[in-house]
Amino acid sequence: MSVTVGVLALQGDVREHLHALDVLGVTAVPVRRVAELAAVEGLVIPGGESTTMDKLLHLFDLADPIRSRISTGMPVFGSCAGMIMLAERVIGGPEGQRTLGGLDITVRRNAFGRQVDSFEEDLTVPTLRDGSARPVRAVFIRAPWVEETGPDVEVLAHTMMGGVGETSHAVAVRQRNLLATSFHPEVGGDLRFHEYFVALVRSSAA
Ligand code: GLN
Repeated sequence: MSVTVGVLALQGDVREHLHALDVLGVTAVPVRRVAELAAVEGLVIPGGESTTMDKLLHLFDLADPIRSRISTGMPVFGSCAGMIMLAERVIGGPEGQRTLGGLDITVRRNAFGRQVDSFEEDLTVPTLRDGSARPVRAVFIRAPWVEETGPDVEVLAHTMMGGVGETSHAVAVRQRNLLATSFHPEVGGDLRFHEYFVALVRSSAA
């Protein structure tokens, strides 16, 4: 079945997500206005800068409409800053940083520290097609990690980059229609996370 997926286009790596969805044969449209939001069956929130995105969401009067779509089950996929926007709780942000919420997780912003601003890691993600056999090459850029998950949150992948002696942190999670990754599946050409998300959108639209 054909579905239309939006990419929140206020800030961040919008084009990469539109391209990934395009490659998968999905109708992908940028979303900047309420009317555009109303026309999509799923939404991607890209990587970028979560505090800037927060300001723009309010400037464009999109925060409440997106929250309301989330609460009525619209599938949303957040990568990196997008994961922060979906988190109920944020550590390491400025006082009072707002998010859209919906995902019962606590994220730590810029969790990996300055010395490892960006890195790549091979992650095993059994949920994805071929996920146990073929790791996902994950690109992390000033990424958050998931510090706590509520009971309804399924952890899809962990990082081993947490530092010596620390427990490994979740970097990909799903709670019903919400999917989030600390890293950027839209760069690097492995589209299995997008494929997984599109399947969520299709089954929720069906
Ligand atoms: N550090 C950014 C933030 O806190 C996220 C970085 C990214 O999306 N690549 O919003």
